[in-house]
Amino acid sequence: MEIINVQDLYWQYYSSPDYALKGISLSVEKGEFLAVTGPSGAGKTTLMLTLAGIIPQRLPGKFKGEVTVLGESTLSADLARLMQKVGVVFEDPEIQFVMGSVEDEVSLSLEPLDISEDELHRRVNHALKVVGLDESFLSRNPLQLSGGEKQRVAIASAIAKEPEILILDEPTSDLDPLGKEEVIQAVEKLRRETDLTIILVEQDPEIIQRFAERVVVLNYGKIVFDGEPSELYKNL
Ligand code: ADP
Ligand code: ADP
Repeated sequence: MEIINVQDLYWQYYSSPDYALKGISLSVEKGEFLAVTGPSGAGKTTLMLTLAGIIPQRLPGKFKGEVTVLGESTLSADLARLMQKVGVVFEDPEIQFVMGSVEDEVSLSLEPLDISEDELHRRVNHALKVVGLDESFLSRNPLQLSGGEKQRVAIASAIAKEPEILILDEPTSDLDPLGKEEVIQAVEKLRRETDLTIILVEQDPEIIQRFAERVVVLNYGKIVFDGEPSELYKNL
């Protein structure tokens, strides 16, 4: 079943002289694990903001084409509802931390949902467990954790609302080797244990080859490769 469909998408930030995305077409099936890669400035983050519905609803710019996520056009979709279905984790988790404890931080995305206190605790504990953080982390201040722990709290926050799609935008690029490994193992576990559709923006060919079944390469706002990682990296 197709969960994301992008047709001939063009996007230009008003403050920029050129299009950031130039004729992107992409189809993603439910349950797929997709890596998106390409040089800095290629349009990866812009494409992720588009799949999350933030572009064009929340950012000013010129939008052409069609983006359908979970059967709805993101031009007209109810953004609050879409945000419950699409979890997003960015490179710098600190920008999204607003609460003083890990428990409150992970609970935050559940507030709009009409669920009981018991269910809320169940979901928070489960989300933390999936990313390998035990209950001793509940009362910790997110800002005082290690890089890998912070990023895993951000992932737990994104999955606690039980979205259908998880977008991870370079979640390991600021981390030391240990932190990288912790985050990658959390993502691998998610992949094994859930039917989430996962889109991972990633620069490291080793990480991409380790678990992505499909890789999309962006360059200057265009898709220049869409296929198997082994095919892309065969000459490495
Ligand atoms: P990355 O390559 O890690 O995605 P960038 O350095 O390209 O990071 O961009 C980081 C953020 O800075 C982007 O998400 C974008 O919102 C903002 N940004 C990038 N380029 C510009 C620009 N020319 N004008 C304004 N903001 C920009
Ligand atoms: P990537 O994630 O691949 O590094 P981005 O999506 O961040 O690429 O950026 C794609 C292009 O859009 C770049 O030329 C960047 O400078 C520009 N850009 C990104 N964010 C903004 C922004 N907020 N305003 C203006 N230009 C931007």
